[in-house]
Amino acid sequence: MKENIKLLQQKIMDAAHESTEHVQVNSGDVGLWLKSFTQHLSDELIFSEKDLSGVKHDDVDDFNLLKDVIRKELSAIISDISSTSNENVFDQKLDPKFRPDELLIDHFCQCCWVQCPFCGVTCTNTIENHHGDHSVPFHRVAGLKGRCYHQTDDLSADFCTSLVTSEKQFRISDKWFKCNDYRSAGGVYADWSITPDKSKLPYWKWFVCRFQKDLEEYYDRKFQGHGEIPDEWRKHDKPDAILSLDKCF
Ligand SMILES: [Zn+2]
Ligand SMILES: [Zn+2]
Repeated sequence: MKENIKLLQQKIMDAAHESTEHVQVNSGDVGLWLKSFTQHLSDELIFSEKDLSGVKHDDVDDFNLLKDVIRKELSAIISDISSTSNENVFDQKLDPKFRPDELLIDHFCQCCWVQCPFCGVTCTNTIENHHGDHSVPFHRVAGLKGRCYHQTDDLSADFCTSLVTSEKQFRISDKWFKCNDYRSAGGVYADWSITPDKSKLPYWKWFVCRFQKDLEEYYDRKFQGHGEIPDEWRKHDKPDAILSLDKCF
């Protein structure tokens, strides 16, 4: 917690510093400063320019002042947060209905647990309502499970819902199978219902870009060559990614 708070403080100060430079270079005003400041932090904090709209009306014409105010106020706020947070207050502050650990335990205790052979996503059917094939509303990128292209170190950047519409092939114990006829591979492949679908959840696009380095290190393979990450994926930021999840559920 403390390390995260320190990191966040540094990021906020960096954003303030860079915004001041940006405004100086572009001979901008307080409005531009606020825009730049919020954009710099959009991956870290959930707030928008509107939350700071009062600043514009407060006759602030010196944007250097904003940086100083943030530096001063931030230190006070951070030491406040640090002194009031300790392990004991965590339980009180978390609404028991929305505790992430409880939600996950509840979900996975009754979950089927069988993973998609392409992307590794866990079947979301519960044991009671599981009739027939394994399925999930959204598949992920196959490279998340470490799948790569034959005789290369190129991690796959394919969503399995697109893979099953393609002419591509995959190999199991020296035998090749068509992705668009994946069930013919038998075993767990035969038991999964993967709906062909061109839609790709922005959350997973963002996730792959955000954790690209970690995934590449973990699997000792790279998103390159056949598995090059499309430029469009990098346009999604964290709020975008979260919003795409909200729309699904
Ligand atoms: Zn899948
Ligand atoms: Zn299942």
